[in-house]
Amino acid sequence: MDLDRTHAQSLDAADPLAAFRGRFAGAGEDGLLYLDGNSLGRMPRETPAAIARTVEEEWARGLVGSWASWIGAATRVGDLLAEGVLGARPGEVLVGDSTSVDLYKLLVAAADARPGRDVVVCCADDFPTDRYIVAGVAAARGMTVREVPADVDEGLDPAVLSAALDERVAVVVLSAVAYRSGALADLAAVTRTARDAGALVLWDLSHAAGAVPLDLAAAGADLAVGCTYKYLNGGPGAPAFLYVRRELQQQLRQPIWGWFGQRDQFAMGPVYDPAPGIERFGVGTPPVLAMTAVEVGAALVAEAGVQRLAAKGRALGELTVALADAWLVPHGVALASPRDPARRGSHVTLAHPQAWQLTQALVDRGVVPDFRTPDRVRLGLAPIYTRFVDVWDAMARFREVLATGAHERYPTERTRVT
Ligand SMILES: *Cc1c(COP(=O)(O)O)cnc(C)c1O
Repeated sequence: MDLDRTHAQSLDAADPLAAFRGRFAGAGEDGLLYLDGNSLGRMPRETPAAIARTVEEEWARGLVGSWASWIGAATRVGDLLAEGVLGARPGEVLVGDSTSVDLYKLLVAAADARPGRDVVVCCADDFPTDRYIVAGVAAARGMTVREVPADVDEGLDPAVLSAALDERVAVVVLSAVAYRSGALADLAAVTRTARDAGALVLWDLSHAAGAVPLDLAAAGADLAVGCTYKYLNGGPGAPAFLYVRRELQQQLRQPIWGWFGQRDQFAMGPVYDPAPGIERFGVGTPPVLAMTAVEVGAALVAEAGVQRLAAKGRALGELTVALADAWLVPHGVALASPRDPARRGSHVTLAHPQAWQLTQALVDRGVVPDFRTPDRVRLGLAPIYTRFVDVWDAMARFREVLATGAHERYPTERTRVT
């Protein structure tokens, strides 16, 4: 690959998504080489006005009457995500609660749907909240957790997963894109293998939604959850989404019996009788202001198109890896993501014994990655607003830090948030 800066510039000049960058606050103005959109996406420029509209028109003037439209927001934004981002059908996605809570609800529902089976399979290197929730649900139900090992750089080997499946397994919880390495799982293949073993797969799409094409319908996926504040740019703490395949909805009951899951909510009936469709997975009053921001972010991603976003994400990743090989590996950095771009999501992870010090030095020099244990610098390449030249400049500064040893002056002690 041509490693000249002019090559990166020519890739930007030919980028069909280039205009989307201008629709995000700060991009091109704050001087930051922001490579953490997989942790907190940038803010769409339309978001403040959209929230102001919800506040000033719908809340201040419309008052309680605005519930006539707010009541449909969880399914309206869900449908937008279903069609524009997830490759699911209308009526299969609901927005609300957090990824952690949605994971809990669907995991319990799925385990209930597989009576007589007492094992939950999860991945030993999955995101902490996923593993903790699996452990908590298993402990409460007297189930056993079977943690399958995964290579921290290459992700889960499908053969290892297959070997862990038997007639005791009720549910498999897995991330489509591994948070540490960016390793991408084969949704369709894993779903098929698990179904053959009689188990349900509950996917976590947090690092995948908005970054890789997720054809949930074609993959035959049963259940999924995911964040909207990463590649979907819904803002800090934005409500999550959950997906349940239409044919399964009636069979499943989630464990938090709230009135937003009720069939005729305002009948104020004496007993819980869950709604027939996706709304049965709701619980309580949704965060309307936050939902407004999710709608803006999801609409932008849908407009850009996940196929185009994924193609650009792969190309950004290839440039990152090529520059890392040429410039950083000689300084003791190692690639900690799959080398094959077809096996990666939209971030690239690099390992170095002083990764935390390097992260701090980079932030001070206008490059914003993040640090993940044990010794990784994660470079999030959100394709909707990241330019090829941003990658080039960030990697040049990375090389400079390593060459001068500038990172050595930073504390080795981690801060509360990394
Ligand atoms: C970011 C992320 C989460 C976050 O869950 P919250 O409930 O929003 O805190 C969960 N799981 C995975 C895989 C993630 O990447």
